[in-house]
Amino acid sequence: MPKRKTKWKRTSTKGTSKFPFRFSPGSRLRFLEIFESDSNSHPRFIHPIPQIHAHSSNPKRITVISVSNGTLKPLGFCWLLPPLDRFRLHTRKEEEQKNLVPLSSVVKGVLLQQLVQATIAQVLFLATSDANSSGIQAQPSLLLQLMQIIVAMMVMDTWQYFVHRYMHQNKFLYRHVHSQHHRLVVPYAIGALYNHPLEGLLLDTFGGAISFLISGMTARTAVYFFCFAVIKTVDDHCGLWLPGNVFHIIFQNNTAYHDIHHQLQGAKFNYSQPFFSLWDRLLGTYMPFSLVIRQEGGYEARPLKH
Ligand SMILES: [Zn+2]
Ligand SMILES: [Zn+2]
Repeated sequence: MPKRKTKWKRTSTKGTSKFPFRFSPGSRLRFLEIFESDSNSHPRFIHPIPQIHAHSSNPKRITVISVSNGTLKPLGFCWLLPPLDRFRLHTRKEEEQKNLVPLSSVVKGVLLQQLVQATIAQVLFLATSDANSSGIQAQPSLLLQLMQIIVAMMVMDTWQYFVHRYMHQNKFLYRHVHSQHHRLVVPYAIGALYNHPLEGLLLDTFGGAISFLISGMTARTAVYFFCFAVIKTVDDHCGLWLPGNVFHIIFQNNTAYHDIHHQLQGAKFNYSQPFFSLWDRLLGTYMPFSLVIRQEGGYEARPLKH
């Protein structure tokens, strides 16, 4: 009896996605609302989070601190952790289709931004320091430092809200300056500080400087505060809704909140950043949202007003 040959037929891979998600045209989101925000509260837990199966088979100090928080940690966060697709607010395909700037340009822009910020911070610290002859500046009590940090958070939020909102309302400023940040329609961690250099100077660097000067904090306290602000900003842009994220528990202004602002239909809302949502609520630019489970895996932050 002749030996049967097994013929292996090559199947075409044409038309299949190179992404680890299966997309079908017209596939709809499953509207299982698990969180819902209203004007008075945090996103509200409505439904227990089910197990989500993503369709995935594999799926000099100031400068160092600044670069570390703004660039290296987000990079490490992306590459070292296991695949986090089931916590994403946008699919990888959306990220590729909607974003208007390559990753290499984003990294270069962020490094430039951090160099400028770190240089100005160093100059400011040297100019305002009242260190003694041996270079030591006395630190105030922990309570006073905490109060100074809260004051600095409010000053920074106020500055950023009004400047940020004006950059959207003034067409020239939006087109030539702020639109650079919005090239990332689907934000990711490394892109948190991706801005036009003028915006970086005006919004972040100047905002940081007045927060530092008005609060009266020392350079040491300021380093803690700026690290905190950068980490918070990176988290706001990380595009992940991770369970137990302490920022999502403490702050109503969080990753999903800022994600709404990056979406086209939410660009005129949720200007507040990076800490509170106070100014949006007071001035009518607050966009409530619901967090829904996406059929392809992950979540979607969906505006509730149109
Ligand atoms: Zn904006
Ligand atoms: Zn942003």
